[in-house]
Amino acid sequence: MSTTKLFGTNGVRGVVNIELTPEVAINLGSSIGTFFGKEKKILIGYDARTSGPMFARAVISGLMATGCNVYTAGMGSTPAIQFAVKNHNMDGGVIISASHNPPEYNGIKVIWSDGIEISHEQESEIEGIYFEKKIVFASWDHLGTKLELTGINDEYKEAIKNHVDVQKIKSKHFHVVIDAANSVGGIALPPLLRELGCKVTTINANIDGTFPGRLPEPRPESLGDLSAIVRAISADMGVAFDGDADRSIFCDENGIIHWGDKTFAVVIKQYLIKNPGAKIVTPVSSSTLIKDTVETYKGQLIWTKVGSVTVSQTMKTENANLGGEENGGIFYQPHQAVRDGAMTTSLLLNIMADTGKSLAQLIAEEPQYFIEKGKVECSNDKKELLLRKVYDEVKNENVSTIDGVKIWFQDASAILIRPSGTEPVFRLYAEAKDQEKASKLVKYYTLRLEQLLATL
Ligand code: MG
Repeated sequence: MSTTKLFGTNGVRGVVNIELTPEVAINLGSSIGTFFGKEKKILIGYDARTSGPMFARAVISGLMATGCNVYTAGMGSTPAIQFAVKNHNMDGGVIISASHNPPEYNGIKVIWSDGIEISHEQESEIEGIYFEKKIVFASWDHLGTKLELTGINDEYKEAIKNHVDVQKIKSKHFHVVIDAANSVGGIALPPLLRELGCKVTTINANIDGTFPGRLPEPRPESLGDLSAIVRAISADMGVAFDGDADRSIFCDENGIIHWGDKTFAVVIKQYLIKNPGAKIVTPVSSSTLIKDTVETYKGQLIWTKVGSVTVSQTMKTENANLGGEENGGIFYQPHQAVRDGAMTTSLLLNIMADTGKSLAQLIAEEPQYFIEKGKVECSNDKKELLLRKVYDEVKNENVSTIDGVKIWFQDASAILIRPSGTEPVFRLYAEAKDQEKASKLVKYYTLRLEQLLATL
């Protein structure tokens, strides 16, 4: 761990017992406890990683030492734990999970009372307490208590059913294959889908923190088994989760794996048909398909910086019901304004039941875009200067500077030029109606970036 920073994009992450040790976890627990304050109710849960119970115990000790009353939820998906924080009027929550990272990693995320991850400013506050040793311990007679909170997965499952037409889905008898990545995606979703009248086939559904089935990042190239099984047994749909089951990637009845922008666009279209003019929130890195769909169905698009916490918080301040990221994170505020794999799966089944169309048919109705990616090396100290130079050059175009520089062109092509937050590179991400145009855009701006960088 660095000496000034603990939190990254989604909480604290590190390799178990090398970067993230029980000692870090216990001190972080006490820092989180100091941040929330004495006698506050904090829920804690973890995913399937081998180190989950170990870190949970360390964080619990740290929290109790500062006088927080801890409720232990045991194992559950990130959205199930987030839902429980809100549903049980907790003051906050802690989730032990490294989401999609490989099995040797774990992480600690802090949740606010509304179920959404705390803001980066609040994370800095906790870092301040941790590094400046401002932990406030409770006296021996004011230590926190520890109680078990059982049933969070069942409550979560029941809550999702309130947001779909259960009878209509039941009448369709869908057959769904679930690839749970040997983690918590296999806890609430199989029973939920059975209660929605689906026939459920699972793969990688046994809980095993070594993740023997596949790595917990649901990339199309690692979902070959899911695709093959959907085809072999003529299922209607396949779904694969990441390690903490907030993100879901889908496979249609033909075994084709679709990236998250395609399924998000399916959900947007149906939502806007039923809720004309609604606000849709998405990071500026999202595909032109999202912009296209929102414009075609007369919604109001709200761009945000890249990052799931920003999407959640923008949804709250804008009072928007639907948000999404193209990595398979869909946020549905009537349930909760966070990424939620089981909710997303249920929404898609609801749409299939409602429209009478298969997932492949729904996706085939969408306009097609071709993607090309590139990168340009650039030292961290020159990133801001280079970004400004790029902006000066394109400022008369249709451009957004919410995060990096994004340019939309007349012919529906677009490019996002954005400095990486973790590596000394600029990433380029182009889209167009044909592959040649997308490649041309990346080539042109790669060269231009290199030329501008040479002048710095
Ligand atoms: Mg995740």
